[in-house]
Amino acid sequence: MKLDISHMRYMTADDFKVLQAVEQGSKNHEIVPTTLIHQLSGMRSMSGTNRSISDLAKLKLISKVRNAKYDGYRLTYNGIDYLAFHSMLNRNTVYSIGGSIGVGKESDIYKVSDKNGVEKVMKIHRLGRTSFHTVRNNRDYLKKNSKNGVNWMVLSRLAANKEYQFITMLYAKGFKVPEPFDNSRHVIIMELIRGFPMRRLRKHKNLPELYNNLMKFIVKLGCSGLIHCDFNEFNIMIKDESEIDPNDPTDVGFVVIDFPQSISIQHKDAEYYFKRDVDCIRRFFKKKLKYEPKDDPSMLDTDGFGDGYRYAYPDFHRDIERTDNLDELVQASGYSKKHPGDRYLEDAMEDMRNTEEEQEDDQENDEEDGEDVTEDDEDDNDEYYYSESEEEDSEEEYDSQEEENERIIE
Ligand code: ADP
Ligand code: MG
Repeated sequence: MKLDISHMRYMTADDFKVLQAVEQGSKNHEIVPTTLIHQLSGMRSMSGTNRSISDLAKLKLISKVRNAKYDGYRLTYNGIDYLAFHSMLNRNTVYSIGGSIGVGKESDIYKVSDKNGVEKVMKIHRLGRTSFHTVRNNRDYLKKNSKNGVNWMVLSRLAANKEYQFITMLYAKGFKVPEPFDNSRHVIIMELIRGFPMRRLRKHKNLPELYNNLMKFIVKLGCSGLIHCDFNEFNIMIKDESEIDPNDPTDVGFVVIDFPQSISIQHKDAEYYFKRDVDCIRRFFKKKLKYEPKDDPSMLDTDGFGDGYRYAYPDFHRDIERTDNLDELVQASGYSKKHPGDRYLEDAMEDMRNTEEEQEDDQENDEEDGEDVTEDDEDDNDEYYYSESEEEDSEEEYDSQEEENERIIE
């Protein structure tokens, strides 16, 4: 879904009040009646509310729905995009939107800039675009509500909040994740990592060290209480050489992204997901980088987190010893039987974790079936792109959108 905020400059303060009222009303109403919109908006005259409603509907930020009992309105994805962006503009965490960096299965990623021209990344969660194919068929509550889209919006918001909490906590604890800047509704703003997804890596100056540091990341995350659950070559950004700080011994040259589906080490399937994360990296190193790790006692260090990781790969029971309780602090899925978490989000995240897995399996089968996958074919199929030419395109788009945005704010 394309982010289109081009009409923002035409919107009045009243329009935003009314749009917010529709959002607020949606919490309890599938279709928000006009009278309630008026009440919640705090607008003085009904005719003013009606005018805004009609303008918002024209811009497709809300849509009119007739049901048996009454007519009313529903917030659209466009509408919630506008609200999120508007809040972040007001907080000065964003100033202008640039080009698209990637379209994921569950998100759209854009470059944005703040007032000082510092480039950042905006991740817009869009759950329900491709996933839920199993949930949709199997679960009654989604079957009942899947037509109206409300659930996807709520879930996208919950997923963004979760991811923001995860990276905020991890960043504060010194994990190599993007610095978080803001979160509004289904959107998060974070540091732009200048580099490329490990998927594109074919050569590296020290493969054993990179492998070792990735395994240490998984173990350290586990000892802090968390399992990433989608730890693979798409979600590890390899930093450009020029971005690596030679004076920082903790700069391992990569940054881990994409956390909404992470779980607690107390989750009932923790061991399974832990092993799957480890295996994803092992498989990638073996197939694409032709590197197979071996146990290396010379890598031993006593606390497990020093300079090396002595085993070829981690084992959940042997290596995970709790040193922190980040899972409890962020209420990660499965952290306690007494707190099963939000049921919708839980189901959605479970589906997300397993959707990734199915796709990996497909890919695996393709290759094992002897299909000759060339580098170019692969790139065509790439989930996310970052090619030179596309980057140039988006730069152009970026400039014109930046101008437009300046006008919005003036
Ligand atoms: P999804 O949940 O859809 O997989 P991700 O968070 O993995 O979303 O982001 C999708 C892609 O966008 C990544 O593979 C990466 O190429 C790019 N990306 C995401 N976050 C950043 C970031 N902070 N810096 C640079 N690129 C990023
Ligand atoms: Mg990803």
